[in-house]
Amino acid sequence: MTREKRVVFLTARVHPGESPASFICQGVIDFLVSQHPIAQVLRDHVIFKIVPMLNPDGVSYLLNSLMGFDLNRHWQDPSPWAHPTLHAVKQLIVQMNQDPKVSLEFYIDVHAHSTMMNGFMYGNVFEEEERGQRQAVFPQLLCQNAPDFSLSSTSFNRDMVKAGTGRRFLGGLLDDTSYCYTLEVSFYSYMTAGSTSPVPYTEDGCILSFLLHLIK
Ligand SMILES: [Zn+2]
Repeated sequence: MTREKRVVFLTARVHPGESPASFICQGVIDFLVSQHPIAQVLRDHVIFKIVPMLNPDGVSYLLNSLMGFDLNRHWQDPSPWAHPTLHAVKQLIVQMNQDPKVSLEFYIDVHAHSTMMNGFMYGNVFEEEERGQRQAVFPQLLCQNAPDFSLSSTSFNRDMVKAGTGRRFLGGLLDDTSYCYTLEVSFYSYMTAGSTSPVPYTEDGCILSFLLHLIK
């Protein structure tokens, strides 16, 4: 049976203090509802599910929820009372994954990085070499289109410490036609190839343009 609904699932601010993730998310939404011809084609063919604030009770903390949990370490077994937003999002994704009419093509979890520069990604490591190669294509496309995206900072790993993250958990749950990434953007600045001084990210300048490049 052919799957009819292609879905891209985006989450941001599971780490609530990472406010640049919201600027990226806003850039995605602004672009998707715009009259840009690519946005129109995307709207015709893809369903975008966007959770702009995955950890709404924790905004006065950098990483944790109000109850002290780092929600991005609880994807394996979220509790409906201790991690309700994560529990609900995971349930929705699991349901979509079981729906034969839905093809969940991308899961992207947006973060901001407090020490690294540029935009970059984390991806998963798979036993099948071919799957790993396919997964590496999207970061390569970003690098070609966005001057602030760094392929050299992009990495693929299966650290035990990251096992409870959305990217790792869903990479194991979803089938091999799905692509799961963590998208990181620096809190501060980026360096372009050949430049000698960093360019600061600003809310409505660089970060939004980063996103427009991302979807190009
Ligand atoms: Zn984070």
